Amino acid sequence: MDYEAVIGLETHVQLKTRSKMWCGCANEFGAPPNTNVCPVCLGLPGVLPVANEEALRLTVLTGMLLNCDIPRHAKFDRKNYFYPDVPKNYQITQYDKPSTQSGHVDFEFEGKIVRVHITRAHLEEDVGKNFHFESNSGVDFNRAGVPLMEIVSEPDITSADMAYTYLNALKDILIFGGVSACDMEKGMVRCDVNVSVRPKGQQELGAKIEIKNMNTFSGVRRAVDHEIPRQIDVLKAGGKLTQETRRWDDTAGITEVMRTKEYAHDYRYFPEPDLMPFEPSDDWIADVRKRVVELPLARKQRFMTMYNLPAPDADTFVNDRPLADYFEKAVRSASNAKAVANWVINNLRAKLTESGTSLESVKIQPPQIQELITLVDSGKISTKIAQDVFTEMFENGQSPASIVEQKGLAQVSDTGAIEQFCDEVIAANPKSAADFKAGKAAALNFLKGQVMKASKGKANPNLVGEILERKLKLA
Ligand SMILES: [Zn+2]
Repeated sequence: MDYEAVIGLETHVQLKTRSKMWCGCANEFGAPPNTNVCPVCLGLPGVLPVANEEALRLTVLTGMLLNCDIPRHAKFDRKNYFYPDVPKNYQITQYDKPSTQSGHVDFEFEGKIVRVHITRAHLEEDVGKNFHFESNSGVDFNRAGVPLMEIVSEPDITSADMAYTYLNALKDILIFGGVSACDMEKGMVRCDVNVSVRPKGQQELGAKIEIKNMNTFSGVRRAVDHEIPRQIDVLKAGGKLTQETRRWDDTAGITEVMRTKEYAHDYRYFPEPDLMPFEPSDDWIADVRKRVVELPLARKQRFMTMYNLPAPDADTFVNDRPLADYFEKAVRSASNAKAVANWVINNLRAKLTESGTSLESVKIQPPQIQELITLVDSGKISTKIAQDVFTEMFENGQSPASIVEQKGLAQVSDTGAIEQFCDEVIAANPKSAADFKAGKAAALNFLKGQVMKASKGKANPNLVGEILERKLKLA
């Protein structure tokens, strides 16, 4: 029997805000333990939470970026559980009335555009962090109360690679939208992975097995790659899978049971009595909508259709936003976008890396790229000379025309001058001339190279070819 995997992801993302979710403490990574804390985020008695409006905006913005509905009535709930890193003994989250729901993400996977539906993206708060030392443990509450968004996908994912690609697409969207820095090293993105398998064709889902607290995307891919065959093996051997939570041991490369359904948490959710429901006005939503940006996939597709660029060039521009902005300025007046893209990607980017210059301080004005291309296209300079002109432009920001003028780099298209170079080269290389006449076509290239050399690269190579051939055939 054939089996198929059904995978859903719950992705937790720290939001890019200055302060925490319910208090004014800084939302910053790396401060000394328990320095960004106050009575509110430590859960001391008698304090009240005040919602961070920017976190609400970023959550609704995420909903817009993920094509979600934005309900006009959302609320917060208490999720009760007792754990040392949860100072209030409950977490404030959104249970049955989230801020966004029913969306989707489209992304490229194995050469096709695939869609994963989004159940919801809701707002909650992060917890502190436990540290275990040799003989005691400690808790750092700096992270407690940091705004955290949970993005829940539908179980539309069918493989480890697809899960990995989805997570990267989601991360790119959140970075593009300015929602989160998504710094994995700083634990800003973590996910829980639900994996089940079922016989192919069966509608009913298999037992839901959750792998908790994954903090790298490559870890997710490895864990899912391990988990799918493990579950299939259990079923094939006649065993039964039951709902359980597992943890991923990255070193051993296996998942292990954390708790079974019997020990599942009962969170006793109830509406948060200290916070009003969240009912955004039309104006408030319109303001958030102004922050919606063009997403990576849309940008890629636009670069491919609008400028006729091949996919690798479009990808380069999607991944390097400043370079893409520069290209778009350079291409404005251009007739050949691909030529502009080549100069920007192959030459400009290489020079930036080589010299350690940032794009903001680059001296070449975007329209000058087009001027350079025009000089080549019109035959004024050769492509080889254009490289030297570009280097000059990069160094001093001068216009390509004035560099060509000052340095006398204009291509020699004066047939009289070229004829003279050709005569000299033929006279100096009788053997090659004879070879060509005897039918060795390659000899012409050698002679052409000699003429280009004699002209210091300035002769128009097409003219050189024509004149040489004519002269040799006559001789
Ligand atoms: Zn605080």
